[in-house]
Amino acid sequence: MSIEKGPNFLEEIVAEDVKNGKHGGRVLTRFPPEPNGYLHIGHSKSICLNFGLAQEFGGKTNLRFDDTNPVTEDTEYVESIKNDIRWLGFNWANEFYASDYFEQLYECACELIKKGLAYVDDSTAEEIAAMKGTPTEPGKNSPYRDRSVEENLDLFARMRAGEFKDGDKTLRAKIDMASPNMHFRDPLMYRIRHVPHHRTGKKWCIYPMYDYAHGQSDSIENITHSICTLEFEVHRPVYDWFIEKLNIFPSHQYEMARLNLTYTVMSKRKLLQLVNEKHVSGWDDPRMPTLSGYRRRGYTPESIREFCDRIGVARRENMIDVGLLEYFIREDLNKSANRVMVVTDPIKLIIDNYPEGQVELLPGENNPEAEDKGGTREIPFSKELWIERDDFMEEPTKKYFRLGPGLKVRLKHAYILECVSFKKDEAGNVTEIHCNYFPESKSGHDTSGISVKGVIHWVSAAQAINCELRMYDRLFIPEDPSNAEGDFKDHINPNSLEVISNAYAEPELKKAKAGDKFQFVRKGYFCMDPDSTADNPVFNRTVGLKDSWAKEAGKK
Ligand code: ATP
Ligand code: MG
Repeated sequence: MSIEKGPNFLEEIVAEDVKNGKHGGRVLTRFPPEPNGYLHIGHSKSICLNFGLAQEFGGKTNLRFDDTNPVTEDTEYVESIKNDIRWLGFNWANEFYASDYFEQLYECACELIKKGLAYVDDSTAEEIAAMKGTPTEPGKNSPYRDRSVEENLDLFARMRAGEFKDGDKTLRAKIDMASPNMHFRDPLMYRIRHVPHHRTGKKWCIYPMYDYAHGQSDSIENITHSICTLEFEVHRPVYDWFIEKLNIFPSHQYEMARLNLTYTVMSKRKLLQLVNEKHVSGWDDPRMPTLSGYRRRGYTPESIREFCDRIGVARRENMIDVGLLEYFIREDLNKSANRVMVVTDPIKLIIDNYPEGQVELLPGENNPEAEDKGGTREIPFSKELWIERDDFMEEPTKKYFRLGPGLKVRLKHAYILECVSFKKDEAGNVTEIHCNYFPESKSGHDTSGISVKGVIHWVSAAQAINCELRMYDRLFIPEDPSNAEGDFKDHINPNSLEVISNAYAEPELKKAKAGDKFQFVRKGYFCMDPDSTADNPVFNRTVGLKDSWAKEAGKK
C-alpha cells in the first residue's frame, strides 16, 4: 500500500491552470453520482477530492445527478446522496440534473446530425456488437451509416416522438469504425426506452448514453476540471470529440485510480444485491461500506475525510487495507468518545465485607485522552457487581493477574478486591464469586499499600442497565471478494454479526441517544443504534480497541 505525500497530481494540475489564468483562473468541479444506489466509501474519495480541490483554489463544486438511465434511478437515492454529502461536511454550489439538459442534449444531437456526424441506426444490439470488431480487428460500417441528413433528422425526431419500440433504432456518432480505440467506433448516443423517468416522467422515450451526456453536461455547466476514475481514460477521446465537434465550452477530463478496500465490495450493483437478497438489513446496515452504513456504525465524517486525505490520489490501481480506515476512526474516537464500563459476559461478584444496602457514587473520568478529560461521571458501587466471566479463573495460571482464589485485583475507579471463594452449579459452571474489599484502597485515595497488577471493569448489579450489543466483523471472508472464485455472495462471512443480548452497562448509558459514541472500557468503540428503545438500548461496535496500524501510521 502506498501513502502519497505532498500535493497530489491533480492539485499540481489545478495549481498550474490557476497560475496560468486558464479559464480566468476559475475552478469549477462537479460530483456526478448516478442516483441508482446509496453512496459508498469509494464515492467519498471522489467527493473529498472534488470539493477539496475547489476549496483549495477558491472555486466551487456542483452536485450533478447523472440521471440518464430511467430504469435504475430513484428519488430515494437522490435524497440519500444529498444527505450523505452534507454529512461528510460539504456544500455544493448548485444542484443540477443531467435530465434537465435533455432538451439541450437533443438539440446538440441534431446539430451533429446536420454536420453529418451522427446517424440513426436500425441495427439490433447484436448486429451492432457483431460489427464492432475486436481490439485487433477493425469493425464494419453499419449499412445505415450513410443515411442523408434529412432522413436522420426525420428518424431521430420520430424516435423522440415515440414511433418506435425499444431497441428498434439508436443514434450513433459517426467517428471511425477502424479506430484502435473501441470507444471511437461509432459510439451510441441515444437509445429508445419507453420507461418513465424519476424527474421527466413520460416526457422522453429516448435517453442519452453516458459518453454523450457526460461531457456535454460538464460543458453546459462550464466545469473546468472533470475528475473521474481510471476506467474512463479510454473514453476521454470521445469526451473531447463531442466537445470539439459541437464547439462548446472545453471542459477537460482527468482520471484517478478508484478506491478499492480489502474485504469490501464497492459497486452499487453488488451492494443492491446484498440489500435486495437480504444478506444485510438495508443500505445502512452497519456492515455495509455505504456512508449511511458507516454513520450508523459510529464512524465520524472527520475520520472518513482524514482517511481520504491520507490514501492520496494516484493514477495507479491499488487496494487499500481496510485496517487503515479503522485506524482513523479509532484515533478520532479515542479523543472524542467518553468511556463507560459495560460487562458483556456477566458473572456475579459479591463483596462479603461491604455493607448491605450501601451505594457509593464513585467519580469516573470520562475521557483521559480528551483535552478537558471529558469531565467526570458518577458510578454507583455496591455489594453486588457484574464482572466479565473471563476475568476470573478457577485455577489461575502463573501470569494471570485478574481474579482467582486468593488473587487480588483492582476494580477500575473503585477498590482492590481479594477473592475468597466461589460457587459452581451442577454442570460445573462458576455462578458466583465472593471477595473482600480493602476500604483504604479507593482509587485516587489509596493508602492501603497493596500493589496489584491487574485492573478490571465492573458494573453495580442493582443499577446496571441491560443492553444489546451488535458485534460486527468483516462482511466478506476473502481479501478481494470481487475477484474471488464464483459469485461474490458465496464469500459472505456467516459470522459477520454476533448479537450479545445480556450485556450490563453503567446507568450513565440511560442518557445516551441514537448516534452517541462511547468507548466501552477494554471492549472497543460503540455507537447507539436507532433501533434502541427505552427497555432495550442497542449499541453497534464501531471498531475494536486493538490497532495493528498504529506503528505504520505513526511514521507519518
Ligand atoms: P459504482 O460502480 O459503485 O456504481 P459508479 O462509478 O457507477 O460506481 P457513480 O454514481 O457514477 O458511481 O459515481 C459518482 C462519482 O464517484 C464518479 O465520478 C465516480 O468516478 C466516483 N466513484 C465511484 N466509485 C468510486 C471509487 N471506488 N473510488 C473513487 N471514486 C469513485
Ligand atoms: Mg456510474
